[in-house]
Amino acid sequence: MTLPSQAAVVVIGGGIIGCSTAYHLARDHKVDVVLLEQGKLTSGSTWHAAGLVGQLRSSASITRVLKYSVDLYKGLEAETGLATGWKMTGCLRLATNADRWTEYKRLATTAKSFGMDMHLLSPAEVKAMWPLMETGDLVGASWLPTDGQASPSDITQSLAKGARMHGAKLYEDVRVTGFEMKGDRITAVKTNQGDIACYKVVNCGGQWARQVGAMAGINVPLQPVKHQYIITEKIAGLATDAPTLRDPDRRTYFKEEVGGLVMGGYEPNPQAWTTGDVPNDWEFRLFDDDYDHFEQHMVQAIARVPALETVGVKQMINGPESFTPDGNFILGVAPECANMFVGAGFNAFGIASGGGAGWVLAQWVVDGEAPLDLWVVDIRRFSNLHRDRHWVCERTLEAYGKHYTIGFPHEEYASGRPRIVSPLYERLKQQRAVFGSKLGWERPNWFAPESVEPKDVYSMGRQNWFAAVGDEHRHVREHVGIFDQSSFAKYELSGPDAAKALDWICANDVSKPVGRLTYTQLLNTRGGIEADLTVSRLAEEKFYIVTGTGFRTHDASWISDHIGEGLDARLTDVTEDFGTLSLMGPRARDVLSAVTGSDVSNASFPFGHIREIVIAGHTVRALRVTYVGELGWELHVPIAATGEVFDALMAAGRKHDIRPVGYRALESLRLEKGYRAWGSDITPNDTPLEAGLGWAVKLRKNTDFVGRRALETVGGASLKKRFAGFTVDDPEIVLLGRETILRDGEPVGYLTSGGHGYTVGKNIGYGYVRSADGVSDDFLASGSYELVVAMQRTPANIHLEPLYDPAMERVKA
Ligand SMILES: Cc1cc2nc3c(=O)[nH]c(=O)nc-3n(C[C@H](O)[C@H](O)[C@H](O)COP(=O)(O)OP(=O)(O)OC[C@H]3O[C@@H](n4cnc5c(N)ncnc54)[C@H](O)[C@@H]3O)c2cc1C
Repeated sequence: MTLPSQAAVVVIGGGIIGCSTAYHLARDHKVDVVLLEQGKLTSGSTWHAAGLVGQLRSSASITRVLKYSVDLYKGLEAETGLATGWKMTGCLRLATNADRWTEYKRLATTAKSFGMDMHLLSPAEVKAMWPLMETGDLVGASWLPTDGQASPSDITQSLAKGARMHGAKLYEDVRVTGFEMKGDRITAVKTNQGDIACYKVVNCGGQWARQVGAMAGINVPLQPVKHQYIITEKIAGLATDAPTLRDPDRRTYFKEEVGGLVMGGYEPNPQAWTTGDVPNDWEFRLFDDDYDHFEQHMVQAIARVPALETVGVKQMINGPESFTPDGNFILGVAPECANMFVGAGFNAFGIASGGGAGWVLAQWVVDGEAPLDLWVVDIRRFSNLHRDRHWVCERTLEAYGKHYTIGFPHEEYASGRPRIVSPLYERLKQQRAVFGSKLGWERPNWFAPESVEPKDVYSMGRQNWFAAVGDEHRHVREHVGIFDQSSFAKYELSGPDAAKALDWICANDVSKPVGRLTYTQLLNTRGGIEADLTVSRLAEEKFYIVTGTGFRTHDASWISDHIGEGLDARLTDVTEDFGTLSLMGPRARDVLSAVTGSDVSNASFPFGHIREIVIAGHTVRALRVTYVGELGWELHVPIAATGEVFDALMAAGRKHDIRPVGYRALESLRLEKGYRAWGSDITPNDTPLEAGLGWAVKLRKNTDFVGRRALETVGGASLKKRFAGFTVDDPEIVLLGRETILRDGEPVGYLTSGGHGYTVGKNIGYGYVRSADGVSDDFLASGSYELVVAMQRTPANIHLEPLYDPAMERVKA
C-alpha cells in the first residue's frame, strides 16, 4: 500500500464520525479526501456501542442533526448495498414521579416545537407495548415513535463503502504521528507510512482526539470514561420490535438484541479512565468485566424487567467512551489552529449523532463556517480552563452522573468550584450571594434575604429565589443596583487598520469618532448572527470590545479569523485586566457623580459613549450602555482596583439605597426591555432583519461587511420569520423557552427564551413567528395567540415593542 503524497482533506479516525465525515465530504462536496485509521475501521469506541438512536435534544439544530442521522441510516443500504441494521422501534422513557412527569410534558412540547410527535402514555399503555415490564411504580411514559436502533459497525462500514463509492480513499493500519506546521496552519500530516500534504485536517480521533489535537497545539477537552452494558440470552416473550427503553429514575436503558436484551446505565459514581494519554494499541479492546460496579444497574433493571433475574448473561461490554464537561459533543474549527477541524467527544450518543455530525462537519470544513447554529457543540465554547485535565475530568464525571437525573430549570454544576473568582467574591458572599458558574467564573445569581438560606432549591415550579429576585429587580427599576460583571470577555483591537478591519467584521457602523460606543452584531455569510457585542473607540487606532462571558473564545476567534488579509490590526484578550461593575437604575448618576470629579451629566456623557473617569484614585473606563433598560454605566476597572471602586460606589450609594444585584434579576430586566440574548434569541440561524435588529445594520452606508450580500438578497422579500414578544397572565405558568407558539390554533414557532417580568407582573417569552408566505405586521397583529406550556395551551398576547420602557414610563408619569 502506498499513501498518496497529498490530499485536499485528511480525516483522522475510522470510527462512525470519521467515516460519516469522509462520506459527506466526498458525496456532497466532491472533495479529494483521505481517511487514515490506525487500526481497523470501527475498532475504537464504535464497534462496541449499544446502538440506541434517539433524536430529541434541547437544541433545535442538534435535534435536526440527529433527525438527519435517522433519515440517512434508513436509506443508506439502497445506496451502498450494506445494511445499517436500522429499526424504527420507537423509544419509551419512563416516569416514576411528578417532577419527571413534568419534565416529559415539557419535553413533549419541545418535540412538538421542533416538528416531532412525542406522546405521553399511561402505565397501562406502556404495559401493553412492553409486557415484560413491571409498571406498578409508573406515572407514565413518553413515546417517540420515530426513534430506534441500529448496528454501529454496520452503519460505519456502510458509510465507509459509500465514501469510497464517491471517491474517498480510506486507509487502515496507518497511524498519524504528527503534523508539519507553518504558523498556525497544518501543511502536512505525518504518519508511520509517510507524509501527506493537505489543506485541511479533520480530527475524528474518538478518545484519542485530545492527543491528536495536542500534536497541532489544540485542546480537545474530553475524558474517556468506562461505560458498561450486558447482553443477555434470549428472553421468552420479548418482541423483536420492542421499543428501546430508557428508565432514567432507575438510571438504566434497554434495547432488544437477537431476542435478548442489551441493558446498561449511567451510574452516579462513574469511573474515569486515564487523564493521561490513551494507549495507541487499543484496537477492538475492552476493560475487564466489572460486575461489582455494574451491580447497581442490575438491581434496578431486575426491578423493572423481572425476567432479567433468571436469564443468562451472554456478554458484558465494558468499553471506553469520550465524555465532555457539559455533555455535548465537540465540533468545529479549533481556535488554536486555522485548519484543524474536530468531531469528537460524543458522550455515548455518537451512533445517534454520527450521520448528522458528519453532514454538518463536512459542510463546515468546506465553507469554513458552520452551516447552522451549532453553538452548543462548538469547540469555541471552551477556554484555557479546559486545558486543565483534572478539572475537565471532575466536571465530566459530574455531567456523566447527571445523564439521567431530572433536569431542573436553572440547575448549576457543583464540581470544580469555585474556580475563577472576581475580586468581589468574598464581599458578595458576605452579602449572601448565591453563585452560578459560567466558563469557570463564579457569578452572583441572586442575593438571599436573611430569612432564606443562600442556596438554590430546585423544583419544576417557582424556585426559592423567585421573590428575592423580584426584590432585586424592583430595586434596579426604582433605585440603583450594582452588578458584578467582571467575567465579561474583553478585547482590544489595535493597529493602523483596526477601523478598517471592524468595518468588514461588524454589521453596524463602529468607525465612529473616538469616545463613541456602538452595539453591533457580527454576521456570517448567510447574514446569521455570530456574535452580539459592543465596540468602543478608545483612540483612532484602538477599540475596546466587550462580549458575554461564555463567548470569550468564540468571539475572539471569529474576530481574528475575519481580519482582512494584509490588514495591520491585532486582537488582544484583556478579560482579566478589568473588573466590571454595572451601575444601573434611576439613581445611578447620583451615585456616580458622588465618586468622580468628571461631569457625568447627560449633556457631557450621553448614551453610547465611553469616557475615562477617575474613581477612588483609579482610572476607570466608563461605558454608557445598559442591558436592563435603565440609566446606567458599565465601569471597567483595573482588576486590582475593583474592590476599592466597589466600596466607594457602595459608600456613596448608601443614601440612594444601593445594593448588589445578581444575574437572575438582570435576565428578568432584559426580558422586559426586549434585549435579545445571543445563543438563544439570536443565533447563526437568525438574521438581524428577522430579529428586529435591522436598525443596527449599516445597510444604508456604502461599506461592505460580512453578511451584507445575504441581507440585501432577503431584504426586499417579506421575511419568513420574525421575532416577537409574548406575555402570559396566568401566574402559575413557568416559561423556560421552547414552548410552542400557536397563532389561531396553528403552530408557528417556539419560544427562544422565557422568564418572568416583575415590573409588568407577567410571564414573558420571546420567539420567532414563522410563515412560508411571509410575516407582515398585519400577520403578526391579526392573529390570536396561545403558548403550549408543558402540553397545556394558555392564552398569550403578542408584543412588538418593549414591554417596559423606563423612559416612556417616566414621561407618562
Ligand atoms: C459501552 C458503550 C455503549 C454505547 N452505546 C451507544 C448507543 O447506544 N448509542 C449511541 O449513539 N452511542 C453509544 N455509544 C457511543 C459511541 O460508541 C461513540 O460515541 C462513537 O462510537 C464515537 O465514534 P468516534 O468515531 O468518535 O470514535 P471511535 O469509534 O473511537 O473512532 C476513532 C478512531 O480514531 C482512530 N485514531 C485515533 N488516533 C489515531 C491516529 N493517531 N491515527 C489514526 N487513527 C487514529 C482510532 O483508532 C479510532 O478507530 C456507546 C459507547 C460505549 C462505550
